[in-house]
Amino acid sequence: MVGLAFAIAAARSGLSVVVIDAAKPAALTAENFDGRVSAIAPAPRRFLEAIGAWEWMAPHAQAISDIVVSDGTVMDGAAPFFLHFAEEEGDGGPLSHIVENRYTRLGLARAAENLPGLTQISPNRVVQQDVSGGAARLILADGRVLEASVIVGAEGRHSPTRDLMDVRLTQWEYGQHGIVTTVEHELPHQATAQEFFLPSGPFAILPMTGNRASLVWTEKAEAAPHFMALSDDDFADEVRRRFTGYLGHVAPVGPRFSYPLSMQLSSHYVRARRALIGDAAHVVHPIAGQGLNLGLADAAALAEVLGDAMRLGLDIGHESVLERYQTWRRFDAFAMAAVTDVMNRLFSNDIAPLRLLRDAGLALTGRMGAAKSFLVGQASGYGVLGKQALPKLMRG
Ligand SMILES: Cc1cc2nc3c(=O)[nH]c(=O)nc-3n(C[C@H](O)[C@H](O)[C@H](O)COP(=O)(O)OP(=O)(O)OC[C@H]3O[C@@H](n4cnc5c(N)ncnc54)[C@H](O)[C@@H]3O)c2cc1C
Repeated sequence: MVGLAFAIAAARSGLSVVVIDAAKPAALTAENFDGRVSAIAPAPRRFLEAIGAWEWMAPHAQAISDIVVSDGTVMDGAAPFFLHFAEEEGDGGPLSHIVENRYTRLGLARAAENLPGLTQISPNRVVQQDVSGGAARLILADGRVLEASVIVGAEGRHSPTRDLMDVRLTQWEYGQHGIVTTVEHELPHQATAQEFFLPSGPFAILPMTGNRASLVWTEKAEAAPHFMALSDDDFADEVRRRFTGYLGHVAPVGPRFSYPLSMQLSSHYVRARRALIGDAAHVVHPIAGQGLNLGLADAAALAEVLGDAMRLGLDIGHESVLERYQTWRRFDAFAMAAVTDVMNRLFSNDIAPLRLLRDAGLALTGRMGAAKSFLVGQASGYGVLGKQALPKLMRG
């Protein structure tokens, strides 16, 4: 998603881009490839609009007008203190949109179709990269040889391009899995996203189009295989135990997916002729639903930096050019990784004094204007540097 978004933005700014993906295009958009949805914040949505992908995604997007964050347990439901964000507190318009990743990939694929300057080669892999001299040279699995000014590593958390760069990777496992499935429910969701903090981790209910919602159920790593192996009926019972009844009768539909959760931060995003974007550069806990949003901001920023350098006649692969991208984006991802890490540690347990403290914290944050607008800004995709520092493509 992040790689193709970057490629479209770069090609539209006049650069010549080749996208090499290991997966077949049809596999990337198949129903069983990725069961996740993403909460697309307003700033990255404007980027997707600007590159022509949003028009294809919009019919499948569910606008979110309210977000309710609450402490709670499986048996008791939501605690009395909770944090509520309403549309009026945002920037005008919905707080975010929930879109199935499948439709985001389809939207990007449509926007990339017949775009001058963009060539897609898939399925294929880079088997050798060489960045010595004035250009990067790549050898593909089928023997093809490509030359380029810059290699952009967008291969997700196991990025081979990153492995070839001299970078340090700070990483740890959360000992949690994100179990993802779709449910159909009896009562309308009223465009409200809910996040309950259960002892095993956050349990998010993200409204989709129609009377459907996507669950992101964070479970201890050792317990997740048990839930994944349950029969459909037993799994449905477990899901229902975690709902408080506000959506009426709930039934899981479609496949279940399980993703191990980890944190990863690359010490550098650039080296001569190489740059990292998206999960290749940083992986954050999904507690705030911001991983893709961060990656799309990388894509917009890198396309802008390279486009500007090209117009000035500079070597777009020179480290001094690429460093402008790194300075722009690295702190944002670092801050998001830190915030989501602390939130997850604070909320994923059942220690009574901590529970009291965080309930008070939720209630207090709800009453503190500055703290709340900071959180709304983060959820809107403005990053720690604020709206003024957004790439132009994210400002509309
Ligand atoms: C449970 C869960 C819920 C989430 N919810 C949200 C949310 O609500 N909002 C949000 O913003 N983010 C969310 N995220 C994070 C988000 O899914 C990721 O940040 C996002 O998918 C990263 O996109 P990417 O394009 O960088 O990497 P990926 O999606 O991992 O894509 C990598 C691409 O590279 C290709 N590839 C891999 N290896 C190679 C290779 N060697 N050669 C060529 N191609 C290769 C793959 O085929 C793929 O197309 C969530 C994550 C999880 C685990």
